[in-house]
Amino acid sequence: MQIAIDGPASAGKSTVAKLVASKLNYVYCDTGAMYRVVTLMALRRGVAADDAESVTALLDDIDIEFVPSAEGQLVHMNGTDVTLAIRQEDVTNNVSSVSAIPAVRARLTKLQRDIAAKGNIVMDGRDIGTTVLPDAELKVFMVASVEERARRRFLDNQQKGIDVSQAVLEKEIAERDRKDSSRAVSPLKQAADAIKLDTTHLSIDEVVTKIIALYDERAAK
Ligand code: C5P
Repeated sequence: MQIAIDGPASAGKSTVAKLVASKLNYVYCDTGAMYRVVTLMALRRGVAADDAESVTALLDDIDIEFVPSAEGQLVHMNGTDVTLAIRQEDVTNNVSSVSAIPAVRARLTKLQRDIAAKGNIVMDGRDIGTTVLPDAELKVFMVASVEERARRRFLDNQQKGIDVSQAVLEKEIAERDRKDSSRAVSPLKQAADAIKLDTTHLSIDEVVTKIIALYDERAAK
């Protein structure tokens, strides 16, 4: 079975998707991490995030791998751990430009489908239900208010030692949503058959429980 979890930035998708995958013993795939890796490589090579031709030229030099570890799933770029590096502000604020490049989307979509083809999967992102896995048995579109998402990102950042005010985060999140929703290829959009879940007033456990209940319904059919 395929479970697609989409939604805007910081709606809690990856936290929830990881827990759902672990409860069901499914593989978890964080597609946002892949776009972040390409962005990190562009920044490290001094390539502008909106320079489509130069970013596309980098794709053949990038090997992305998800590596299980005691601390959770690590993200490797060409064999090096970049799990923390891809969460830094410079990557976060440039990733929407990189992810709007059609050749980048084509390459990563193929990679994501190859991963999903191996078996049961929970995949989170922006276009999983609409483009990557249109036949997923369960599609969830997670939303939350911008204020709540900025608050969550702020708490998350504190643990990672990233120091940005909640007000700035709110602006950054709103801007990323705007860019992700307005790009020409596979914009952030709820799939017609996705179930919308507003998590503004829900705890992580409550969201996980709801998704597992939806999964049980589908599995019984
Ligand atoms: O999920 P996360 O916030 O880490 O995603 C980072 C960025 O990657 C998003 O803002 C979006 O630009 C891009 N992305 C995408 N399609 C996906 C997943 C992420 O365009 N399926």
